Amino acid sequence: MTAEFLHKRSVPEVKAEPFYLPSGNEVDIFAQCHAQNLAVMLKGPTGCGKTRLVEHMAWRLGRPLITIPCHDDLAASDLIGRFLIRHDGTQWYDGPLTQAVREGAICYLDEIVEARQDTIVVLHALTDHRRILPIDKTGETVKAATGFQLVVSYNPGYQRMLKDLKPSTRQRFVAMDLDFPSARHELTIIREESGADYSTAHALVSLAHRIRALKDRGLAEVPSTRLLIATALLVEKGIPIREACYAGLISPLSDDESLVGAMRDLVDATF
Ligand code: ADP
Repeated sequence: MTAEFLHKRSVPEVKAEPFYLPSGNEVDIFAQCHAQNLAVMLKGPTGCGKTRLVEHMAWRLGRPLITIPCHDDLAASDLIGRFLIRHDGTQWYDGPLTQAVREGAICYLDEIVEARQDTIVVLHALTDHRRILPIDKTGETVKAATGFQLVVSYNPGYQRMLKDLKPSTRQRFVAMDLDFPSARHELTIIREESGADYSTAHALVSLAHRIRALKDRGLAEVPSTRLLIATALLVEKGIPIREACYAGLISPLSDDESLVGAMRDLVDATF
C-alpha cells in the first residue's frame, strides 16, 4: 500500500466585515498579539461576543479563519489529522489545526476547557518561540506559516470547579476578559443585528439587566447579548413582545419553575 500525504482543502476567508463594537481596547491588543506571534485567550460568558471578535479580527488582519468547537471527545487526531484507507492505499488528511498552521490562518478553539488535557497539549509547541506542530504519525514537523495565530475561548463561570486549564497551558496565552457590553453598547448591537427600533432595544436591555441580577438567586446562565438579539428578531418579525421574551429570552435560560416565574414577572412588569 502506498501512502499519499497532504490532502489540501481551501481555508475559509472572512470576506465581508463582521460588525463588532469594541467595549475597550480588545481590537488593538488582539492586533498587537497577532503582530508579535502571541496566542490569545478570550474569557467571558457565553454569547458576549468572543466569536464575533475573532471573526472581526480575521477580517481586519486579512487572515483565513478556522473555528474548532471543542468537546470532551475531541482527540488530538481530530486537530492534527489522520491516515484514511482508500481503495488504492492510505492517504494522510490534515486536520483543521494543521491546515491553519500550514496556511497562516487564525485557528479559533471555542470552549477550550471542554477538550481533554492530552488534546490540549498538542498546542504547546505552537504557542512558544518554536511555533511548530510535530505530527507523530507522519514524522513531519510543520513550522507555522506567517500569519498563523492560535486563539482560544472559554466561559470561566461555567463548570468552574469541574473544568479548568492547567497553569502550564494558561501561561502560554495573552488573556482578555470580555463581558456583556455596557447598556449603551448592547442597545446599539441589538439594533444593528436585528433592525429593532430604539424603544424595543432599550426595553430589552433594561429587562436583561433586571434578569441578570437574578444570578444571586441561583440563575446559572444569565441572558446573553445573543438571546437579546434573537428576541428582538422575533419582535421584528411580528411576534408580540411578551411572547418573544418568553420564548427568546426566558425559556432558554432555565427549567426551574420558580426562576422562570420570577423572570416572567419581570417581563410582564416591563411590557
Ligand atoms: P460568544 O462567542 O461569546 O459565545 P458570540 O460572539 O457568538 O458570543 O456573540 C453572540 C452574538 O452577539 C453575535 O453573533 C453578535 O450578533 C452579538 N454580539 C455580541 N457582542 C457583540 C459586539 N461587541 N459587537 C457586535 N456584535 C456582538
